[in-house]
Amino acid sequence: MKVISLGSGSKGNATLIEMDGKYILIDQGFSLKELSRRCDISFKDFSAILLTHEHSDHFLGVGALSKDYSIPVYMPKALDAVCSDRLLDCDVRYHNDVEFEVEGIKVSPFRLPHDARYTVGYKLQKGEQSFACVTDLGEARENLFDNLVGVDTVLLESNYDEEMLKSGPYPEALKRRVSGRLGHLSNQESAKVSARLISKGTKNVILAHLSENNNVPELAYDTTAKYLEKNLNCDVRIRLLVAEQDKVKIF
Ligand SMILES: [Zn+2]
Ligand SMILES: [Zn+2]
Repeated sequence: MKVISLGSGSKGNATLIEMDGKYILIDQGFSLKELSRRCDISFKDFSAILLTHEHSDHFLGVGALSKDYSIPVYMPKALDAVCSDRLLDCDVRYHNDVEFEVEGIKVSPFRLPHDARYTVGYKLQKGEQSFACVTDLGEARENLFDNLVGVDTVLLESNYDEEMLKSGPYPEALKRRVSGRLGHLSNQESAKVSARLISKGTKNVILAHLSENNNVPELAYDTTAKYLEKNLNCDVRIRLLVAEQDKVKIF
C-alpha cells in the first residue's frame, strides 16, 4: 500500500491510495492543471474518486477529473443538492454511508461532524492493508473510534495550534467557527486522537489539513509526538508523519 498526499490544507486536498496496483483518489481540491503538475501517475489508472464533502478545497476539481477521464465519483446522496450542477455528465454513485467495493478494495464511509452539507471519512481495506482518511471534523466522537479500530494508517486532521488561533489574525467569528464542534481538529485534539488510535493498533498517523495561518508542520508534529511520548509507551515502529500543502509526499 502507498499513500500519496498530492497536497493537504485549506488551499486544496487530494490523497491517492494505491493498493495492489489499483488507485483510489480521495477528494480533488485542485484544478486539473495543478493536479497534473503534482501527480505523475496517469489519471486513467484511477478507479474511483471518493468525495468527503462539498467545500471547494476538496471538491474544486472533482467534476473535471471525473468527466475528462471517465472516473466514477462516490459520494453521499445528501451532497447532490450542493454538488450536482458541477457534476454534470459525470458517473456519480451514491453510497449513503454503506460499505461498497472498488476493484476488490472494501470502502467504508463514516459520518464526520463538520459545517458542510454532509461530511464523511473513508476507510479502505484490502487483505492486511488498511487506510482511513479523517479530515474536516470539529471533534472526534465515539463512532470515529469504532470505525477505526486497528486501521494501519490514518490520515488525521491536525488543523490548528490552539494558541496560534487565539492570538492570530482571524476575526472572532471565524475563530469560533474553526474551533467549534463543527469546525476543525486542533493539534492538541489530534494528539489525543492519535494516542487512542495507536493504543488500538494503528501504526502510522499522517497529520494533515494543517492551517496555513494557524499552524506549522513542526508544531503539529511536536505536539502529537510529545503527547505520545508522555502518554503511551510509544513503540518505535509507530510512525508519525506530516502531509503538507505544497509538497507531494509518498508514505
Ligand atoms: Zn477542508
Ligand atoms: Zn471542510
